[in-house]
Amino acid sequence: MTSAAFSLLNIFTFYLLTVIFLVTILSKILGGYPFMSIDLEDRGHALENEYFHRKEQELIQKMKAHMAVENAKATAMKCPKCEGTLMEADYDHIKIDICDKCHGAWFDAGELTQVIEKDKQGGWFGRLFG
Ligand SMILES: [Zn+2]
Repeated sequence: MTSAAFSLLNIFTFYLLTVIFLVTILSKILGGYPFMSIDLEDRGHALENEYFHRKEQELIQKMKAHMAVENAKATAMKCPKCEGTLMEADYDHIKIDICDKCHGAWFDAGELTQVIEKDKQGGWFGRLFG
C-alpha cells in the first residue's frame, strides 16, 4: 500500500468516526436518532389515519344499515284504517296483510275469494260470505 492510499484511508476512517460521533451526540441531545424519530412519527400518523379511516367506514356501514331500515319502514304498506303498518301473514297458504296496531286483516284482489273457497267445507269464513 502506498503512503498516499494509506493517508486517504486514514482520512476516510477519521471522517467516518466523526460522523458516527456526531450522530451519537445528536441522538443523546434529541433523545433518539433523528432519522428514526421521523420514521416513527410517520408511522404514527399512518396508524392514526388508518384508525380514523376504519372508524369512518364503520360509521358509514351503520348509517347505510339505518337508512335501509328507514327506507323499509317508509315503503311498508300503511293500514287504511289507522297509522299501523301492514305485516304479511300466511292464512292457509294465502298471503293476507294484518295491521300491527288494530290487527285488521286486509285482502288483495282475489284473496278473499280464495279464503272463502278454502273455507267452504264448513269454516266460519265460508258461512259468513259463501
Ligand atoms: Zn290498523
